[in-house]
Amino acid sequence: MPRIFSHDTEETGSDFRSKATLGVAITAVLLLLPAVLLDLLKGELAIGIGAFCVVFILSANAWIVLQGRCHQRLTQYGLIPAGMVFMTSIFQMDGLIASLWCYPIVLAAYCMLSERRAWFANAVILLLALPMVWLTLDPTYAFRVTTTLVATSIFAAILVWVIDDQRRMLEMQLTLDPLTGLLNRLTYTKRMEQAVHEHEQHGKRISLLAIDVDNFKKLNDHHGHAVGDYVLSQIGLLLKNALREEDNVFRMGGEEFTVILINANERAAIETAERIRRQIGEHDYGINSAVTISTGVAEHLQDESWAAWAKRGDDRLYEAKHKGRNRVVAAQPKEVVKLGIVSLP
Ligand code: GH3
Ligand code: MG
Ligand code: MG
Repeated sequence: MPRIFSHDTEETGSDFRSKATLGVAITAVLLLLPAVLLDLLKGELAIGIGAFCVVFILSANAWIVLQGRCHQRLTQYGLIPAGMVFMTSIFQMDGLIASLWCYPIVLAAYCMLSERRAWFANAVILLLALPMVWLTLDPTYAFRVTTTLVATSIFAAILVWVIDDQRRMLEMQLTLDPLTGLLNRLTYTKRMEQAVHEHEQHGKRISLLAIDVDNFKKLNDHHGHAVGDYVLSQIGLLLKNALREEDNVFRMGGEEFTVILINANERAAIETAERIRRQIGEHDYGINSAVTISTGVAEHLQDESWAAWAKRGDDRLYEAKHKGRNRVVAAQPKEVVKLGIVSLP
C-alpha cells in the first residue's frame, strides 16, 4: 500500500519550528549580546566566551532558517550542548541564576526541535541541571526549582504535542481527497518533480499511469450520485491495495486518477496497469452495471519535464478512450524515436 505521508516537513524544518527558531534566535541574540559584552569588559572571559559561542550558534541558526534549510542538526548537536556547557559554568558561579536560565532553555528546545528531538534534549537538560540544582542550592529552593522545572517541561511537551497533532490533521485535510483518502492535486506537482529527480539523479526507472473511469456520467445518471461516490471510493481502495509503499496515487478530480510507479519501467507499468484494470473491472460494486477504466502508461524519459511526461500519459489515455475504452495503452516506439531517444525501455 502506498505511503500517503512523508515526514519531510520535520526534516526540512518547514513547519512552525522554522519561524519559532528565527524568533527565538533573534530574541536570544538581542538579550544575550549586551551580557556577553559586559562579561568581556569585566574580564570574565570564560563566561563571556561561553555566552558568545551560544550567540554565535543562534545567529547561525537564524541564518540557516533564512536560507530555507534545516537547522535542527545544528540546534541538537551545537546549540543544546553549548548551552549545557555554558549553564554548567554558570552553576559553578551562582546556582540560582543558572537555575533561572534552565526555563528558557527548555522552552527554546521545544520551539526549535522536532517533537522527539525536543523530548530527548529536555531529558538531557533535566538530567544535567537537576543534580547541579541540588548541589548548589538550599534544599527548599532546590525542591521548588525541581518541581517548577519538571512542570514547565511537561507543559511545554503537551503544548507542542497538541500543536503538532493539529498540524498533522490540517496537513491531512489539505492534501488528502476526502472521498477516496488518496492524495489530491496539491502534492501532485511536487511528487512529479521528485520522481523526475529520482530518475535523473539516481537512475531509477519511473512510470506513470493516467486513469479515467469509463462512461462514469452514465453510471451516475443510472444509479445516482451517491452510488457514483461509492464506486469512486471503492476504486480508491483497490488502487491503494494494488500498489507498493513507494508508489504514489492521486485523485486528480472527478473520476480521474494518476499513479506514479517508482522503480518500474514501461513493461512493469503495463503489467501493473493491466492488473489494476482487471481488479477494478471484476470488483463487485453491488450494481448491475460494468465499471471499467482506461489507462495511459508513460515511462519518464531522460531530460523530459514532468509536464511533458504527464502529457504523454494523458495522450495515451485519450488514445485508449478512442480505441474503445476498458484498455491500457502505452507509449508508441515511433514517438519515442521521434523524441530522439535511442534506448527503448
Ligand atoms: P469517458 O468514458 O469519456 O471518460 O466518459 P465519462 O462519462 O466518464 O466522462 P465525463 O467527463 O463526460 O463525465 C465524468 C462524470 O463524472 C461527470 C460528473 O458528474 C462525474 N463526477 C465527477 N466528480 C464526481 C464525484 O465526486 N462523484 C460522482 N458521483 N460523480 C462525479
Ligand atoms: Mg471518464
Ligand atoms: Mg474524465
